[in-house]
Amino acid sequence: MELRNCPRCGKLFASSGRGMCSQCLQEDARDYDLVRNYLRSNPGANMVEVSRETGVELGKIEEFIRQGRLLAYNKLHVACEMCGAPITSGRLCENCQRGFRAGEPAADKPEVKETRGKVHLDRRRGDRRS
Ligand SMILES: [Zn+2]
Ligand SMILES: [Zn+2]
Repeated sequence: MELRNCPRCGKLFASSGRGMCSQCLQEDARDYDLVRNYLRSNPGANMVEVSRETGVELGKIEEFIRQGRLLAYNKLHVACEMCGAPITSGRLCENCQRGFRAGEPAADKPEVKETRGKVHLDRRRGDRRS
């Protein structure tokens, strides 16, 4: 066992292969249940509705999606971390994953969601189309 900081609450905990402290694990499981139960009866709900109806934070729901735990409900999307395209699990869309593996800068969609304020977009647009 090693001591680690829980990525969710920041508390020090004895890690036994789990990524979070036991309290957060419990909360996580409870939140997940809430979300899944809600989605079972409302399969078409979007993230905002789910969050509002279950009281589970959007960020947590997003986490579940990225972990692939809500794949059955593919109405739910999170944004690709590189280009902002909607994806149903993970962190990157297929395009960006491919680009990532090939070691190239991915996709030429200039949209960067989640980042507020100044974003440098120095990609040239319009002269090249694939
Ligand atoms: Zn914790
Ligand atoms: Zn992408």
